[in-house]
Amino acid sequence: MNFSDIIGQSSVVNRLKQIIESKRIGHAYLLVGPEGIGKKTLANIFARGIMCTSHGQRPCDVCRSCRQFNSGNHPDVYRVQKGDKSSIGVEQIRDLLDDIHLKPYESSRKVYIIEDAHAMTAQAQNAFLKTLEEPPFFATIILLAERANELLPTILSRCQVFRMQRLTREEVCTIIVKNLGIPKEKAMLFAGLSDGIPGKGLQLAGSQEFHQMRNDVFKFLEGIFDYSDIEKMAQWELFNQYKDRIDEILDMLVIWFRDVLAYKETGDFGLVINIDKLPMIEKQASLFTLSRIRSIIESIERTRRMLKGNVNFQLAIENLLLNI
Ligand SMILES: [Zn+2]
Repeated sequence: MNFSDIIGQSSVVNRLKQIIESKRIGHAYLLVGPEGIGKKTLANIFARGIMCTSHGQRPCDVCRSCRQFNSGNHPDVYRVQKGDKSSIGVEQIRDLLDDIHLKPYESSRKVYIIEDAHAMTAQAQNAFLKTLEEPPFFATIILLAERANELLPTILSRCQVFRMQRLTREEVCTIIVKNLGIPKEKAMLFAGLSDGIPGKGLQLAGSQEFHQMRNDVFKFLEGIFDYSDIEKMAQWELFNQYKDRIDEILDMLVIWFRDVLAYKETGDFGLVINIDKLPMIEKQASLFTLSRIRSIIESIERTRRMLKGNVNFQLAIENLLLNI
């Protein structure tokens, strides 16, 4: 994986490439973006490029440093990970601080990659501050964070910040096709559900459970015009079965009704996400009025808010079902 393999993110990629080419490597960088956007992939290429010994394009992937990095055995790369824990504690940062003053073993630089930097406790962040301000001349620290606002302003101000952008649907589709080798039409569906986050698109496309869940939801959606109120309410069991993933179920429903709405308004499938369900979209668009579709979408969003509060799950879902 090299810079040329990165799809999207052109402004961040160009800036990181320039830094490597200029050989004026800074001490602290921060990549910010949602989980699955590609922070780690990009940080690994950047770190490899910083330490690469090639006189041509860096990273070269053939020099000793690049090969060591790719095998996961580079002696001058230090990673801090959250692992199964909910946060990165001060002990992990103290271990890093003990290491950072030791000279590199082989390279001219040492690179520290802090994954999930947003999960550092306040104490951990405070312990890090002074070193982040004046690290040894050979050290580069790369922080990866899902949200910048969970880092202390004093940490942020010491880093060069790069914000990763959500990708277009086509870009995510290309990544899914490349990685999973599934047909483009199918990949386009998952890309549409990915929210512009390639990691999410890949996860959905590869998940058997998601396929099953989606099938179940569509079985329900196909029948909504035939159910009596009693039968509708009985469908709450479907929602109960996926109680742990209720947000995803509600997402599916919202995306579905937005598809129906978009088609009804434009008569065009261009904006549709569920591209494998076009006949059903067409049918429901002809049966629902615009205001009815809008009120269903509102009702789903209202249910989502209610469920975040302390309402009875069954009551909230039954209420939603009656509104659909
Ligand atoms: Zn190299």
